[in-house]
Amino acid sequence: MKDKKINVCILGATGSVGQKFIELLSDHPWFKIHEVAASDRSAGKKYKDAVNWIMQSELKKEYGDLIVKKCEANMESKIIFSGLDASVAGEIESDFAQNGYFVISNARNHRFVENVPLMIPEVNPDHLKLLNDQDYTGGIVTNPNCSTIGLVLALKPIADAFGIEAVNVVTMQAVSGGGYPGVPSMDIIDNVIPFIGGEESKMETEPLKILGELNGRKINYADIKISAQCNRVAVIDGHLECVQIKLKKKTTVDEIKKVWNEFKSVPQEMKLPSAPEYPVKYFDEDKYPQPKLHRNQGLGMTASVGRLREDALFDFKFVVLSHNTIRGAAGGTILVAEMMKSYGYFDKVLG
Ligand code: NAP
Repeated sequence: MKDKKINVCILGATGSVGQKFIELLSDHPWFKIHEVAASDRSAGKKYKDAVNWIMQSELKKEYGDLIVKKCEANMESKIIFSGLDASVAGEIESDFAQNGYFVISNARNHRFVENVPLMIPEVNPDHLKLLNDQDYTGGIVTNPNCSTIGLVLALKPIADAFGIEAVNVVTMQAVSGGGYPGVPSMDIIDNVIPFIGGEESKMETEPLKILGELNGRKINYADIKISAQCNRVAVIDGHLECVQIKLKKKTTVDEIKKVWNEFKSVPQEMKLPSAPEYPVKYFDEDKYPQPKLHRNQGLGMTASVGRLREDALFDFKFVVLSHNTIRGAAGGTILVAEMMKSYGYFDKVLG
């Protein structure tokens, strides 16, 4: 059974997202970490010597002893998870896809290419069909920005049931979202930084593609106005977001709670290994959700919502929390790969 697993390679394996990939894939039932790669600074070293391991679980010896490779498209594994820095991800990922590899990426570079799916498996599973229009011998699929994912998971059941006209969101984002070592400790302890470069425009545009409709070979973007303000706060993991929404149809607090609690989608039906039982979970307690208490709901794959109430300016307001390096990065990407495997997309490169 063990050798039936699919070999995978992790690009950017030494980074914050890369380490989360190692942790989450260590005992994965379908995928086996076969190769790791990073920059020239790390290449040639044993993984355990190249990485500053910041995960809470122990690094397994078999992965610690892997030799870090250069990010060149000559890997034995055909399935590539990318946690590469955006300054280099674009070119490297294209090169892999052109050379017969499937790349599932966390970097922003290819998210808005017309025939590249921008995936949240519970939200837009049909968008994977865009892969059929890519000219690569392999393919590229992307994961959204970490703050987009929690927001869109919360919006999806509401959009389906009542339609959404406008969204205003203010984020309180964890330091791990900026990679390792991230913001200097002198800047973030006892502080909030009201700016994260590029983040607001990602939050204002990515949901429109993800919530858009597949129309033949392209996505018709959703017609929703979104305004975002993004802040970095002194939390290690877990992005908390305060959201206001204006809806197309009239509804009630109870009806919105009901559509959240009943929300299940294709990953739950397919029983994919990383799919949480509840993609969205509502908390009735006034003080919930909180990063420290709830970021690991559904093994870090559930978006926790709470504090839903009517709003004087928009129609409703609420709070959503999601784990930025699990659901917002490595875990979300692994769920995409599980869906791609189940739909048979990997057959073309695995033979
Ligand atoms: P990070 O901690 O800074 O890690 C970056 C990785 O890229 C490291 O493995 C690094 O290798 C590698 N790298 C840097 N320059 C390279 C080069 N010239 N050639 C090859 N490899 C190179 O960043 P991160 O937080 O893990 O983020 C990784 C990606 O995921 C980014 O695109 C980020 O925007 C995205 N993302 C992050 C999060 C999050 O919550 N952190 C969430 C969603 C998406 P060395 O160690 O050898 O330098």
